[in-house]
Amino acid sequence: MAEVELKLDASTKAPEAGAAADRPVDRDQDFTLEHYREILAALKERHLTLSFKDASELGRDILKLDRFVLMRHDVEFSLTSALRMARLDHEADVRSTFFLLLSSDYNIFEPEGAAIVQEILDLGHDVGLHYDMTAYEQAGTDAAEIARQQIALLESYWSTRVYAMSSHMPMRSGKTLRLSGVVDVYDPLYIDEIKYVSDSTQKWREGVVTSLLEEHDRIHLLTHEYYWSEGGHDFDVLLLQEARRKYCELAGRAEANIRRFKQGLKLRAVRDAEFRRRLGRCEG
Ligand SMILES: [Zn+2]
Repeated sequence: MAEVELKLDASTKAPEAGAAADRPVDRDQDFTLEHYREILAALKERHLTLSFKDASELGRDILKLDRFVLMRHDVEFSLTSALRMARLDHEADVRSTFFLLLSSDYNIFEPEGAAIVQEILDLGHDVGLHYDMTAYEQAGTDAAEIARQQIALLESYWSTRVYAMSSHMPMRSGKTLRLSGVVDVYDPLYIDEIKYVSDSTQKWREGVVTSLLEEHDRIHLLTHEYYWSEGGHDFDVLLLQEARRKYCELAGRAEANIRRFKQGLKLRAVRDAEFRRRLGRCEG
């Protein structure tokens, strides 16, 4: 425990968002937001950008398009970072699909989280289900049925339509789900027939996506919100910064609750009397 706290203190003193980034010369190592902006601009030069909403509507006809990049964001840890990516995409006139977990340490149903999801939608993006097959299996549930219900929940909560789903850590469970009417991003169409490029663990397997644009006309690009930052930090620093941010937010809420409870205790007799009056009961 002490070690974790020490790490939090040490590594989160890295430059905060807004600090000038000392950008690596090697673009494969450059995970600054400035580089992400440049990537978006480069994608737009010759390629059409598509979301999975577009992919769902096109089906196999997507292969008739000459050049495109299918834009996918799997949101792993940070809704605020996801929103930042959504704003950058929007500024670049790019529409993307943000795949959301219902079993992460972010919560899309608490007011702040729900407002972020709404803003992502308002920016013209769509949301998909990022499902955790291992969690379904551990729960011993009918995975397809639960995924369908989670999609229905997303759709009803935000009055939107979910066009696609992506498996969280698919290598771990080795399985993906197929639901009729919902695009599976790991369908061979999007993995084998279209060039699949990912920023996983801040290591582009074949170089940054922009280095592949000459060679590949059809690209499925997966990015993760927490790898990209103003300062271009390594993921371990960013994950600990995010943990610290969440801790501060939770501590702030706990303090507000403590104040509210203490105030409530002071006023308990008066409020109890008011409550009984409202119920039409006699006092005493
Ligand atoms: Zn994931």
